[in-house]
Amino acid sequence: MDLYEHQARQLFAEHGIAVPRAEVVESAGAAERAALRLGGRVVVKAQVKTGGRGKAGGVKLAADAAAAALTARQILGMDIKGHLVRKVMLAEPVDIQDEFYVGYVLDRAAGAFLAIASAEGGMEIEEVAASRPEAVARIPVDPEEGVTEGVAQRIAEAAGLPPEAAPVLIRLWRVLIREDALLVEVNPLVRTTDGRILALDGKVTLDDNARFRQSRWGAEADDPHGDPLEADAAARGLNYVKLDGEVGIIGNGAGLVMSTLDVVAGCGARPANFLDIGGGASSGVMADGLSVILSDPDVKSVLVNVFGGITACDAVADGIVQALESVRLTKPLVVRLDGNNAARGRAILDARAHPLVQQVPTMDGAAHRAAQLAHAA
Ligand code: GDP
Ligand code: MN
Repeated sequence: MDLYEHQARQLFAEHGIAVPRAEVVESAGAAERAALRLGGRVVVKAQVKTGGRGKAGGVKLAADAAAAALTARQILGMDIKGHLVRKVMLAEPVDIQDEFYVGYVLDRAAGAFLAIASAEGGMEIEEVAASRPEAVARIPVDPEEGVTEGVAQRIAEAAGLPPEAAPVLIRLWRVLIREDALLVEVNPLVRTTDGRILALDGKVTLDDNARFRQSRWGAEADDPHGDPLEADAAARGLNYVKLDGEVGIIGNGAGLVMSTLDVVAGCGARPANFLDIGGGASSGVMADGLSVILSDPDVKSVLVNVFGGITACDAVADGIVQALESVRLTKPLVVRLDGNNAARGRAILDARAHPLVQQVPTMDGAAHRAAQLAHAA
């Protein structure tokens, strides 16, 4: 889960990284009052979970409180790369002398964390890395040792950052480790004309596996930052991924779902999405899953491929029947049930006898049928 900028900066401040004073508001009126408290002149910043807000017109300087109200009115409701702006942050403006980039990210391939730092901050780091790779230092961090003073100095030196940036590197590492983050970045970290080092913008991605410890972020951490159906599925605890084909796919277990995608592709169709209902799925999960898949307008046919292990096929069939009560089925549904309680599951679906539901006993056969139906639609 990604945090908003204002949440990231709250973490930075808690760990001793200096940030400009700021307030978050949801209306122009509140923006005006907040600007007054902050001294009148403020930077108005869209709170959306995407970068490049500056370029998109979502970061603007306002000369006084009245201008802050107007600017907030402009930015609130804006669409930035598909993200609706519901809140703006007003921050005390600072006079920037230099902009740096510092961050840590989990490097899965190396099984370690990577410090990324550059004296060319402000722009998106991917752009700097693409055009001037030598300007970006990438230094592995031993998770046991962490970022000690020595390590921080080495990172700062490698990136050409001033020595005053080293304490920020140490504190940012603490944010990563103590707050269950997979990624933390400050862009820009600035040196002001009066010599202060401040974090002006931040991004923090928390580890979803630590969600149970991170309830303080509440529902905001779950705000959609991608496909709305993916967000809906995540809210229901389902693993759903949107793709760009026409066959909706539901399966149990990552391995089976992946092979189902391949088999469907082998039949000349393209998966529209896939949803893993997992092992031990209840009928409620199946019903939820089906309603998510059916809300995808790209779906022309749906393939349910379940091999009953811990998940019993009769529970899956019950879930399908239950889903048919709440969702109006408008697209053909091909079901392949095999394994634990398959015969009972098939009997349940036969008894329901829905005109758009058909059963095919094998995976290949079911995939062919689903592909055919998608093409015919
Ligand atoms: P992003 O575009 O989403 O990464 O948003 P940022 O918060 O990084 O803002 C983009 C740019 O606006 C920064 O790189 C700064 O150059 C500029 N900016 C942000 N806050 C201030 C500020 O307080 N003073 C000044 N002078 N510039 C700022
Ligand atoms: Mn930024």
